[in-house]
Amino acid sequence: MEVVLAKTSGFCFGVKRAVDTVYEQIDKAGKTGDIYTYGPIIHNEEVVRDLENKGVRVLNSKEELEQLSMGCVIIRSHGVSKDVYELIEKKGLVCIDATCPFVKRIHKIVEKESGNGRQIIIIGNDGHPEVEGIKGWSKTSAIVIESPEQALKFDAKKDEKLCIVSQTTFNYKKFQDLVEIFRKKGYDIIVANTICNATEERQREAVELAARADVMIVIGGTHSSNTRKLYELCQSECENTYYIQTLEDLQLELPNSVELVGITAGASTPNKIIEEVQNYVRINF
Ligand code: SF4
Repeated sequence: MEVVLAKTSGFCFGVKRAVDTVYEQIDKAGKTGDIYTYGPIIHNEEVVRDLENKGVRVLNSKEELEQLSMGCVIIRSHGVSKDVYELIEKKGLVCIDATCPFVKRIHKIVEKESGNGRQIIIIGNDGHPEVEGIKGWSKTSAIVIESPEQALKFDAKKDEKLCIVSQTTFNYKKFQDLVEIFRKKGYDIIVANTICNATEERQREAVELAARADVMIVIGGTHSSNTRKLYELCQSECENTYYIQTLEDLQLELPNSVELVGITAGASTPNKIIEEVQNYVRINF
């Protein structure tokens, strides 16, 4: 029996970089280093708990940041608005910036083009931390659009200049459709496709693997929407698809006829859990 682990399973480049940054900081500073992350570094309770045990605390708001008088603040891969950097500096704290470079690129575009007088349109989900961070780099108030209805409703002077960017995880097809609505309105538009293909690649590889596999295992938190999506996609290709959080949830009974077991994992699933599942299946079947 063959066991194949999808190459794109687990942390994407930006999340891995951010999580590694925190662990590196712990190694450098030790338990008394007053290390904070601005928001949980990743949507994975186990990792956040492990970091807490190592002395890392999570700041949930600007008010909590305001209370600090010393220590180092790590910015997670989603990035933050410009005023958070300014507050960190004003408070005399050390800033370790683990913003994903793909998100940083959006900040730069937004800052520059809003400075050139363009109205910033962010295609994405309002309220998502990444979108909130992007908004905070626009010199004028940015507008977030996530549906065709909102795009159709958008109304500005005919000579208005726009710059459209996207949340990195937005669906490419939906992004194109929304951009098209703006184009038809005849504005002077700059479009920056800032979608990151990590999610899409992970999904594509999972579907390909599931189509070949007799059994498919998808690992990730129950609240992780990208893991649920992976599960649904895999299940449509392979009816024996299991959704587990950790090895403890795995109750596999494999008949002799099984030739290929595929494994993939959501973006916030730590490598350790993926390894444990993979080793268990390899050794026991
Ligand atoms: Fe990961 Fe892409 Fe987001 Fe960066 S932009 S954190 S690589 S999904």
